[in-house]
Amino acid sequence: MESEPPKAFLRQCYPFLSLPPRTPLYLVNHGETGPIRCNRCKAYMCPYMQFIDGGRRFQCAFCNCVNEVPVFYFQHLDHMGRRMDFYERPELSLGSYEFSATLDYCKNNKPASAPAYIFMIDVSFTNIKSGLVRLLCDELKTLLDNLPREEGAESSAIKVGFVTYNKILHFYNVKSALAQPQMMVVSDTAEMFVPLLDGFLVSYAESRAVIHNLLDQIPDMFADTNESETVFAPVIQAGVEALKAAECSGKLFIFHASIPTAEAPGKLKNRDDKKLVSTDKEKTLFHPVKGVYEQLSKDCVAQGCSVDLFLFPSQYLDIATMGDVPAHTGGAVYKYSNFQVETDGEHFLRDLRKDVEKPIGFDAIMRVRTSTGFRATDFFGGVYMNNTTDVELAAVDCDHAITVELKHDDTLSEETGAFMQCALLYTTVGGQRRLRVHNLSLNCSSQLMELFKSCETDSLINFFAKTAYRAILKQPLKSVREILVNQTAHMLACYRKNCASPSAASQLILPETMKVFPVYMNSLMKTAPLVGSTELSTDDRAHQRLAVMAMGVEDTQLLLYPRLIPLHNMELEGEAVPSPLRCSEDRLSDGGAFLLENGHALFLWLGQACPPELIQGLFNLPSLAHLQPNTNVLPELDSPQSRKVRAIVSSLMQQRPNSMKLQIVRSKDKLEVLFRQFLVEDKGLYGGASYMDFLCYVHREIRTLLT
Ligand SMILES: [Zn+2]
Repeated sequence: MESEPPKAFLRQCYPFLSLPPRTPLYLVNHGETGPIRCNRCKAYMCPYMQFIDGGRRFQCAFCNCVNEVPVFYFQHLDHMGRRMDFYERPELSLGSYEFSATLDYCKNNKPASAPAYIFMIDVSFTNIKSGLVRLLCDELKTLLDNLPREEGAESSAIKVGFVTYNKILHFYNVKSALAQPQMMVVSDTAEMFVPLLDGFLVSYAESRAVIHNLLDQIPDMFADTNESETVFAPVIQAGVEALKAAECSGKLFIFHASIPTAEAPGKLKNRDDKKLVSTDKEKTLFHPVKGVYEQLSKDCVAQGCSVDLFLFPSQYLDIATMGDVPAHTGGAVYKYSNFQVETDGEHFLRDLRKDVEKPIGFDAIMRVRTSTGFRATDFFGGVYMNNTTDVELAAVDCDHAITVELKHDDTLSEETGAFMQCALLYTTVGGQRRLRVHNLSLNCSSQLMELFKSCETDSLINFFAKTAYRAILKQPLKSVREILVNQTAHMLACYRKNCASPSAASQLILPETMKVFPVYMNSLMKTAPLVGSTELSTDDRAHQRLAVMAMGVEDTQLLLYPRLIPLHNMELEGEAVPSPLRCSEDRLSDGGAFLLENGHALFLWLGQACPPELIQGLFNLPSLAHLQPNTNVLPELDSPQSRKVRAIVSSLMQQRPNSMKLQIVRSKDKLEVLFRQFLVEDKGLYGGASYMDFLCYVHREIRTLLT
């Protein structure tokens, strides 16, 4: 075996991460000159640029080109060779900052305008009957007050528009001068156009009265509908056309119930076929249907139009295809199966609120520049790429990360290290064009030991998850799983051979930084997309695949190793959350109560002999036997137990990008199966080894590699 160190290393990049407490980045404005850049590689001014020649020139850290310092930017150097204004200029002293962009950075050299949010509501029978439409319309009346706004601005500059649809589309004129909203119908969905320009996208503050009027009317207008067929692609098309006409970027919020079977472009049919599972053709289940949706993604990215999809299905609706445009436009897919207002309403509204209110930028282009010796070779996330270097993003928000794979193809200098600069050009929610710049310098070493010492297991796992989820579009699942095992064994064997002190071959030796790598890897292989089981829903698998592709490191980590929090012996006073336990059945006890969460699912598991005072405190019931099956709320009781557990749950909800629906499970309940699949150290319910078995297997592989 060759002792090959991993050739690629990676960085996750949250171009839009908001750090708590949310502090705005420093904004640098050089007026009409725009940001100062290297003439050759176009890197932006940053702390790594070396000023020479008494401050008259600077040498680029990325390509070594020597550039003249513009006259207005000249500054003397101190005895250390540093500019005297070092601390006054964010671009010389900080890792992250923003530049105001000039017209050169705007589409067609025209100033950008504020984005628009278009709410597109499927008013077919399912959504009306479930009560979704009424719930949503009611919520929008208050939610629209919280549209994101520019730092320091009094109101949001985002324009809003409304469309309802089933087989045909209804546009609404909500101009502030109108007493009543006006509806315009488009029934020819083959050639989608927007029937009104003036009055469709409006300021919420100005048109509030007409919009409230409309939102009051919508649920009643369609109350008696029995239309069950819907279109889908024309809905997205209509949204893009509206943004095009208004010359702005924006986001579509689509609330959709069923597979679009009505006669129109992008019509879909049920192609769910469980017979394909575990065959070479399984990959087709994850592939979107080609054609219409591919073109739509391109149109959306060109316009800076992001698509968020809220789905309320009662059966298969081909998420692989329906989620394709959101996946390419920095959007998200939310799914509420068999939606009922009573049990899922609040869960959905929490998601919607977060989604509408979150910090976001539009119409973005990202570029990663590196010093010599290495370069960015691959990008994973809600991105679109026309060439190999410009990463186009219809939108970028604080919850979506882009994983960047970097390869080194030349010697790196241990002396100077390696530099990276990630520049994101985007339009703010206030319609300003900005450049957000992140800089990073990394140490380099020729010692393998050093590499293993500073290895980030969480980032590695995020990368492996994304490469594996991309690979299943091309290869059979079995091969993808084999590759993951091989890579694990290779990395660990490399460590064993080159770094570990000689010891008995029977011992499994893992680098300190990678101790948890195998448990995550094993958990990854047991996730729904990678497990070939006919018991799993095709839509759920496709949904998880799409979600993970845009996830950040912290989120994949939690997804692959849920937090299991014991509640039966916790301190009731104070805010401390009990330390999580290992995710294994061994840790459960009949006399215990546990909270389990992975950022998407949230369970409260109650053992049969769970302390009665806990049941009393949480539910005001004398014993567990009195708890109604399918309870999924914690009543607001004024007991220490109730206050404490509700505080833990609400703090979890706040930290996670998504809302989680609480499921309360008693041990030996039917529902317990759902809960147990999250105990990732145990044998998988739908296949996949226990952690111990996996470890033994990997150890055997390592020994084979070493002999
Ligand atoms: Zn340069």
